Amino acid sequence: MTLLRLTDRGLYCEAGDFFVDPWAPVDRAVVTHAHGDHATWGCRSYLTSAPGRGVLSLRLGPDASITSLPFGEPTLLQGVRVSLHPAGHILGSAQVRIEAAGEVWVVSGDYKTEPDPTCTPFEPVRCHTFVTESTFGLPVYRWPPQSDTFAEINAWWRANAAAGKTSLLYGYALGKAQRLIAGLDHSIGPILTHGAVERMTAAYRDAGVSLPPTTHALLVTRKADRQGAIVVAPPSAEGSTWARRFGPSSNAFASGWMRVRGARRRRALDRGFPLSDHVDWPALLAAIEATGAEHVWVTHGFTAVVTRWLQERGFDARAVATRFEGERDDVPAAEAAAEDATPA
Ligand SMILES: [Zn+2]
Repeated sequence: MTLLRLTDRGLYCEAGDFFVDPWAPVDRAVVTHAHGDHATWGCRSYLTSAPGRGVLSLRLGPDASITSLPFGEPTLLQGVRVSLHPAGHILGSAQVRIEAAGEVWVVSGDYKTEPDPTCTPFEPVRCHTFVTESTFGLPVYRWPPQSDTFAEINAWWRANAAAGKTSLLYGYALGKAQRLIAGLDHSIGPILTHGAVERMTAAYRDAGVSLPPTTHALLVTRKADRQGAIVVAPPSAEGSTWARRFGPSSNAFASGWMRVRGARRRRALDRGFPLSDHVDWPALLAAIEATGAEHVWVTHGFTAVVTRWLQERGFDARAVATRFEGERDDVPAAEAAAEDATPA
């Protein structure tokens, strides 16, 4: 039984009359998480996980009609049983489990299986058909232990502080920034934030995530109070007037893309830290195996490579198109410009 089909607005469940992560406005959207390539504006109603409600509401605005569901608790949409299960990607990120007539489908959204203190850990869900992301679905992507990466980040910050430089650390404002903040050793110096990061960080704290103290960088006006600081900002702030206000600095970007030679050189960065909120190649394959699924739909990323690899191993695999490929910078241009224009 086909529980989902691809339409021009995204994955649609006809039996339950809902879309999963549609990319155009629909009546009922089940949303895996609040990143822009999964949560689209203008839907009549949204269903998301209880821990993800705050960040989704921040993204969509106060007028969005959002219903939330605790992880693991089923609801019926026109007789189709829908439940949400942790995806371990960012706060509230969920896999959508859809069951009707004994058939089970799971849509992963973005996910990672590594532990992350800022969100509920990924949970494998058994199903017949698994719709998986493949953002880093190439054998070249293998993440080093995150403890090593955080040790490098803190050593870099400590060295910059000793040299009288500000550390500018770039990462997506929702999810990556909070995971970075959680791993920073705040005995080194103050942790300052870009406004977009500070807003999301406040939503994390509201949801009960414990994080070291942060201050919106624009509220710290005295140079002396910025001594030895690290500033966590979205990638869009790199090279901006906003970034230049911090004086002598060292710049780094934290992303899975830093695993590839050249990615750092294309941006004017001193350092690149390979920290991703997606599964790497071995974790992707292990996660697919753990579902026990016979049918796999591969989306969001290196779909052709992953599909071929699965087919060669006996899976019934197919690539499914998406409107967006990979992660995009996640701060709306207007918001970035407003912060940039604030006088130093
Ligand atoms: Zn995402």
